[in-house]
Amino acid sequence: MNALLKQLTEVNGVSGDEKAVRLLLRDLIKDHVDDYWADAVGNLIALKKGTGESDLRVMVDAHMDEIGLVVKSDGSDGTLEFDKLGGIDNRTLSGKVVHIGKDKIPGVIGLKPVHQSSIRERSAVPSDLRIDIGANKKEEINGKVKISDHVAFVSSYTELGPTAIGKAFDDRAGCAAIVELLRGERYPFDLYAAFTVQEETGMAGALVASYRVKPDVAVVLECTPAYDLPNEKDVSANTKLGAGPCIYVMDNRTMHDPRLVKHVMESAEKHHIPFQIRQPGGGGTNAGKIQQAHIAVPVVTVGLPGRHAHTPNGMISLDDYKNYVKLADAALRELTRDTITRNS
Ligand SMILES: [Zn+2]
Repeated sequence: MNALLKQLTEVNGVSGDEKAVRLLLRDLIKDHVDDYWADAVGNLIALKKGTGESDLRVMVDAHMDEIGLVVKSDGSDGTLEFDKLGGIDNRTLSGKVVHIGKDKIPGVIGLKPVHQSSIRERSAVPSDLRIDIGANKKEEINGKVKISDHVAFVSSYTELGPTAIGKAFDDRAGCAAIVELLRGERYPFDLYAAFTVQEETGMAGALVASYRVKPDVAVVLECTPAYDLPNEKDVSANTKLGAGPCIYVMDNRTMHDPRLVKHVMESAEKHHIPFQIRQPGGGGTNAGKIQQAHIAVPVVTVGLPGRHAHTPNGMISLDDYKNYVKLADAALRELTRDTITRNS
């Protein structure tokens, strides 16, 4: 059982409410870094000093937040209206168990039963979902939950042979990978680890972290949708489970730095680490903000393929995860000023 992945995916940290993740990460890294602090927006930034061989400032980013919900009504009919934090498809929500607020009040997302629904209702995307906490009237809800409470999905980490199921691999897998990097040997340069907030709701954390760290180079570690189940037509931006970590070239927000893309591919080849190129198009990562921060930052994203992205239960390959950490480590260790120097 991968204890880091279990701990990091079972803690709740819906966008804007990442404190529990930050405190857990702080405890996981504090004995392995030279300095760490939380900034004004709630990012956790850590410095692992280098050996002094290189004067590069390198930032590695993973976001702490996960998709979830927020309460937006006071429960006048005994149930709670909600809004979504991050990209969530309503079709994935009915019947899911959630925890509300810091006291983790349990609830279930309810929908009209199939028995009472018309064919038309059953084929439509549900728009009348509510969180049911078992209260018959508003008075029973009072005091238990309030408008603006964050709502997290409940899911336990399970390993099934070569794969693992759980919530929030996006992007706690990236956070776990950075913890592993920080626990390793020093790099030739100062490495700043940015565990960032609010990626799912606009990437505010990564922007703030980039201005604070002012890196020469940044590497984003993400969990990337893998839509590789049998389908008739393969046209989506895509990766495959079990084919190794993926390297981004371009997505909807970023042209990743071609020198860094080449560098990461060469590191993979040199160390015989399997990898795939993420299909261009679709989506976006913190790279979009980091690239445009400060005086502009060369950036590349390395992703761990994850099935059933942005639902309460995703799936990853444990071999992909091992190779993801290996590739991030190898690419960082071989990074030099020459990698990002332009000759013309
Ligand atoms: Zn993500």
